Amino acid sequence: MIEKIRPDRVVKAVEMIDLDQLKQSGIRALIIDIDNTLTPHHKDVIIDSKLEWLKDATTRGFLVYLLSNNHANRIKSISSSYDLSGYGFAFKPFSIYYKKILKDSGCLPHQVCCIGDQLLTDILGAKLHGMASIYVEPISPRDIIFSRFSRWLEKRLMIKKGN
Ligand SMILES: [Mg+2]
Repeated sequence: MIEKIRPDRVVKAVEMIDLDQLKQSGIRALIIDIDNTLTPHHKDVIIDSKLEWLKDATTRGFLVYLLSNNHANRIKSISSSYDLSGYGFAFKPFSIYYKKILKDSGCLPHQVCCIGDQLLTDILGAKLHGMASIYVEPISPRDIIFSRFSRWLEKRLMIKKGN
């Protein structure tokens, strides 16, 4: 089980991910969590430095999909305001939107990298679908009840950092 939630890499923040390196490793699409990865929890505005990184990713030709378990209407509103594809009520780590994104992007699983701040949704979802994964440290400690449980569990599981 621990292998299934061990990310390929751990970084402090999304903007520290080297897009050149991802491209060279054959990644074509990015599935990115929203709350606590791009926005502080319950805020609808993507932090400037993270938005710059997202723009850089799209400029470099990555297909970018925002994927969240949070309310669908809120996620639709956030993603459309930044002109990005986004899905809420995604039920990560379950398959429905991972399969949709693979179909829509035309990518193979190993060409997709999932990025997020939770092991039991973002990282497990990636692993279950054969995708690459990068764990980012959460922006803020405030979180919904499920996330609190998830973090409690995560603290008890070892995360191998820096690889
Ligand atoms: Mg999150």
